[in-house]
Amino acid sequence: MSRVLRCAACAGRIKPHHPHIGVEDLETGVEFSYHARPDCQKRCVEETATRLEAGKVYAMHHYHSSRCPDEAPGFGCAGGCFDTPMAMAN
Ligand SMILES: [Zn+2]
Ligand SMILES: [Zn+2]
Repeated sequence: MSRVLRCAACAGRIKPHHPHIGVEDLETGVEFSYHARPDCQKRCVEETATRLEAGKVYAMHHYHSSRCPDEAPGFGCAGGCFDTPMAMAN
């Protein structure tokens, strides 16, 4: 199954092997995708906050670059996938 990922913030295409963020609606299984770049991350945080206020339940997924050398990727990973960490207040 190959589907074209589009960024929910800028509507640009996301290459699957590039780092990106997925926000999954746990009720419907629908996943919103965002670029890892700061602008789109910011939109991601804002939009997710809005949806959370509407009573939705989400899971955040961080997809690292396929070239990311880190075994346990996260913010500040060796691949530099997410240079600007999101300030998620949970
Ligand atoms: Zn984007
Ligand atoms: Zn990484």
